[in-house]
Amino acid sequence: MSKLRFRVVETAFKKKAVEVPIPAKRPSEYYGMYVFNKEKMFKYLPSKVYNTLVDAIDNGAPLDRSIANDVANGMKKWAIEMGVTHYTHWFAPLTEGTAEKHDAFIEHDGKGGVMEEFSGKLLVQQEPDASSFPSGGIRNTFEARGYSAWDPSSPAFIVDDTLCIPTVFIAYTGEALDYKAPLLKALRAVDKAATDVCHYFNPEVKKVVAYLGWEQEYFLVDEGLYAARPDLLLTGRTLMGHDSAKNQQLEDHYFGAIPTRVASFMKELEIEALKLGIPVKTRHNEVAPNQFELAPIFEECNLANDHNLLIMSLMRKISRRHGFRVLLHEKPFKGINGSGKHNNWSLGTDNGLMLMAPGKTPEENLRFVTFVVNTLMAVYHHNGLLKASISSATNAHRLGANEAPPAIISSFLGKQLSAVLDHIENSTKDELINLKGKQGMKLDIPQIPELLIDNTDRNRTSPFAFTGNRFEFRAVGSEANCASAMIALNAALADQLTKFKLKVDALIEKGEPKVSAILEVIREYIKECQPIHFDGNGYSEEWKAEAARRGLDCETSVPVIFDNYLKPETIAMFEATGVLSAKELEARNEVKWDMYTKKIQIEARVLGDLAMNHIVPVATQYQTDLIDNVYKMQSLFPKEKAAQLSAKNLELIEEIANRTAFIKEHVDAMVEARKVANKIESEREKAIAYHDNIAPALEEIRYHIDKLELIVDNQMWTLPKYRELLFVR
Ligand code: ADP
Ligand code: MG
Repeated sequence: MSKLRFRVVETAFKKKAVEVPIPAKRPSEYYGMYVFNKEKMFKYLPSKVYNTLVDAIDNGAPLDRSIANDVANGMKKWAIEMGVTHYTHWFAPLTEGTAEKHDAFIEHDGKGGVMEEFSGKLLVQQEPDASSFPSGGIRNTFEARGYSAWDPSSPAFIVDDTLCIPTVFIAYTGEALDYKAPLLKALRAVDKAATDVCHYFNPEVKKVVAYLGWEQEYFLVDEGLYAARPDLLLTGRTLMGHDSAKNQQLEDHYFGAIPTRVASFMKELEIEALKLGIPVKTRHNEVAPNQFELAPIFEECNLANDHNLLIMSLMRKISRRHGFRVLLHEKPFKGINGSGKHNNWSLGTDNGLMLMAPGKTPEENLRFVTFVVNTLMAVYHHNGLLKASISSATNAHRLGANEAPPAIISSFLGKQLSAVLDHIENSTKDELINLKGKQGMKLDIPQIPELLIDNTDRNRTSPFAFTGNRFEFRAVGSEANCASAMIALNAALADQLTKFKLKVDALIEKGEPKVSAILEVIREYIKECQPIHFDGNGYSEEWKAEAARRGLDCETSVPVIFDNYLKPETIAMFEATGVLSAKELEARNEVKWDMYTKKIQIEARVLGDLAMNHIVPVATQYQTDLIDNVYKMQSLFPKEKAAQLSAKNLELIEEIANRTAFIKEHVDAMVEARKVANKIESEREKAIAYHDNIAPALEEIRYHIDKLELIVDNQMWTLPKYRELLFVR
């Protein structure tokens, strides 16, 4: 037993970096080689079909099914030339990650052989036998089937021998069973609402695009050590493990030199990502040992999200070629930083205007302030929903912990932007009117000077921070599908902008000039959403009390946080924007609660098993050795002397007895608590029971296991320790 453990650690230490051959070509030459991008569409599609498809992609024009056959044909030709034999509809069900079912291109040719076949019908729509994907009761397993439908706005790509076609996944009755369908609707809604508002300033704008630039944090762990940790293997995090004497105190890992084995992994990952058209740009060490980050150049939100899902699966695959396992869990190790996925988000127009960036002229800045203030209003009114959108059983370990944004949504604006908003807020209507013309400014808005937003004015403790030309939603979890946060944010803003426009139009109708109408509503909004604006330390205890006074959502229980999806104002917002119906929201919450329960349930089972068949037996074995020693001391020394010399060992024997007894009792109690919880019918109540009665027991049991780890003979401890998991690379 002990020998095996050391062999595992030693082999991990001896591993050499895997050589990754440098491609003969430059990245710009192999970028997107596995993607059916516009260049390939142009080459493989008839020109009429190409134009129609590009119009659908760029302008959201409705796509006629009749072109599907031609597109399928072109795709097939390209794919076969690339050595592809299979195709799949690629989608993101309400579980994590992505789903795919591969079919070969082959069909009977009627002459006893086969031929490669791929029709428009197969491209456009499929019915995966998907009865075991979660649907929250929408899809009765026996009657209605779900189907996947092609999303032309995200290009098909090749992984190994398979052509992957991004699709939405919906129930037979039309309800979304995935993340992409509502995301596309939210993006459409924000496009429409933001374009309308843009017309106050730039009548030529035809389309507004939401951008997303994610920063993916992750850990790497040696594959051999990982395999010896059933908790990592089955739950994605360590359920036990004492702090390593050295962890991140010295902050010597952050931005440090990247270890060679890791650098090889990153190199291969980046080459493969670039081939798949993912514009990866930044890589560096993160704060915790063995923690790293990867970020691409931002892209249109739907595509960026597909790219994030794709890169997570690439990371899983490529890490193994380098003898690593990648940990995407938000909190794989206790006591050191967890991993997030900052969602950098902004809006831009078809003619290149960046709506969240200050400009040079007063007009541009009024537009900028309009979009920023409406965003703050949306975040303010839906702060509970936004928190729900990033909440999960796994991210719960990170939120509120030391390094992570707190479980309260607020927005950091920085000195300069705060000053501008204060200025607008404090100017009276008379002032606005009086100032008009006086200074001879073109648009009569002297209160908005040229803005130079300092990029370095950052606040790492804010969950939703303005960072110069975008907002950074920092509370998103590393393992999450970004779409969840992006659906909530874009839909909420769409709804908010629509309300803003109605108000401004009403004032204009009453005869108020456009600019003062806009300013009047903005001023009212700045006052109203004041509670969401917080530039102070989000980790402080005072902020929790202050946030509660301000009426922000301070709930910390994940199953209860999910209630935000079903609040009347949330349902109204999602229905008004056409993003999700009440029925869909209810069903999705059933899935969320069920997922929450299952995650905690699995953790409880794994911890129970490990406690009873690794920890207690090993501790007891060591205790027996100690007892043996105590007896032997008595045969060597006079009674009193032996007692004196064995005092410390007797203490250890007692401590082990107490701790193992505690562990056994609490594992039993946890099993009983699960039995009680499992009988609860309501998914919500069951999840709450798991949160209240089972999750805390995991921590209590762990406490004693971690103490035992410190006293039991290192040779006997079966599980790799934190110091090995975190420093072997
Ligand atoms: P950091 O926040 O760590 O300083 P970067 O400055 O490298 O990181 O940016 C992080 C991400 O933000 C990158 O993916 C980048 O492309 C993205 N980003 C930059 N500008 C925008 C923008 N206007 N809209 C959306 N994402 C953006
Ligand atoms: Mg960032």
